[in-house]
Amino acid sequence: MADSGGDLALEDFRAEARAWLEANFPPALKDKAGLMAAVMDGPEPDGDLGRWKAAMGAKGWGTPTWPAEYGGGGLSGAQARVLQQEMARAGAFNPLTAGMGVTMIGPTILDYGTEEQKRTHIPPIVKGEVRWCVGYSEPNAGSDLASLQTRCEDKGDHWLINGSKIWTSGAQYSQWCGALVRTDPKAKKHEGISFLLIDMRQPGIETRPIKLIAGASPFCETFFTDAVAPKDALLGQLNVGWTVGKRLLQHERASQTGGAMGRPTPLEDIAKAYVGVDAAGRIADKDLRNRLTRHLMDARVHGQTLARAAAEAKGASGATNAASVLKNSATTVAQTRAELMLEIMGTQGLGWEGEAFRADEVDAVRSWLFGKAMSIYGGSAEIQNNIISKRILGLPDTTQSA
Ligand SMILES: Cc1cc2nc3c(=O)[nH]c(=O)nc-3n(C[C@H](O)[C@H](O)[C@H](O)COP(=O)(O)OP(=O)(O)OC[C@H]3O[C@@H](n4cnc5c(N)ncnc54)[C@H](O)[C@@H]3O)c2cc1C
Repeated sequence: MADSGGDLALEDFRAEARAWLEANFPPALKDKAGLMAAVMDGPEPDGDLGRWKAAMGAKGWGTPTWPAEYGGGGLSGAQARVLQQEMARAGAFNPLTAGMGVTMIGPTILDYGTEEQKRTHIPPIVKGEVRWCVGYSEPNAGSDLASLQTRCEDKGDHWLINGSKIWTSGAQYSQWCGALVRTDPKAKKHEGISFLLIDMRQPGIETRPIKLIAGASPFCETFFTDAVAPKDALLGQLNVGWTVGKRLLQHERASQTGGAMGRPTPLEDIAKAYVGVDAAGRIADKDLRNRLTRHLMDARVHGQTLARAAAEAKGASGATNAASVLKNSATTVAQTRAELMLEIMGTQGLGWEGEAFRADEVDAVRSWLFGKAMSIYGGSAEIQNNIISKRILGLPDTTQSA
């Protein structure tokens, strides 16, 4: 028999969430989840977006399942799903997912942090008051991340950090960095690594933005020259940072499964507008129609698998090795959509700037280019396949990475 008490409580919560969204979500932001891309690449938002971010931060609903004692929403998984449904219904989106505090660092601090670290770092992340970046990749350590060389020495009363990171998303705007550093150069490469919480606001750290092919400068080279951190800045144990670092990557991949994409304009509507319709009102080009149908089916299957994974998740975060499967399928869906969009728009989908192109047409080509990064960041698609074969399918381990 169904738990009618639980269902009733959930329906009460649904009413509460709906009323709160009606009172707090600015109508001008309806269906504008795309605005979050600009927030990722720019300074703090103001106006409606700034107010929406502040409201969600104060309520704790940008981090719905995080413990209420640190400012999180304190919701159950079922309540969080109801909130998500109500947000989708209202055309609302989570304004706190820009930056890596909410998606990666915060969950990892909740998993591995001391009580003191949780009390210091989680409330400002929940409210969106600080930005974090992730300092993993180095010029000679990408897929083979454990080759990282940024040195962190114990100076008695503090850590001294020297080295450089690359592709550090949002480093130029971040106040904090969660970084993997080498604390024991003599140990085996996976065993001499620690995870450090580094304050970016110090003279020993320099960031140099790198321009992405899609136009923006979303990431940086980050240089550490005699940078410092207090002794209690270690997240997890000394020289056991590889374990902490892998956990963060699971959280990162779980956040890259497309669950927070909002409601994009249906591709079939765009196709009808650009390509035209036949006598039966269908997209005029049969071959395009077939490929579009296949893509929409893939997108639907991905969405349903995501929903099932969320419903079955035992922990609140939903971060496991299965995130690698979902990240790869989200990547395929998003990249195929971008390819189809350009094809549908024809030459109008190839504009870079100028009055001949509408804003959504310029956005299409930039999104198509940025979409290439999806199969690289968070660990490339090939590295996800390695994880799936080793950790999920149990195939023989033939690589040291991931
Ligand atoms: C937009 C964007 C944002 C990013 N943000 C961050 C960030 O915030 N912080 C951060 O630390 N890093 C960040 N990265 C870096 C990202 O994590 C790395 O680019 C990625 O891990 C790949 O490393 P690499 O570029 O050194 O490529 P390489 O490791 O040199 O790989 C090159 C190619 O070889 C393949 N390959 C390598 N090893 C294997 C293997 N064992 N099996 C099969 N194929 C393999 C790869 O799949 C890839 O196709 C970002 C990257 C992008 C594009």
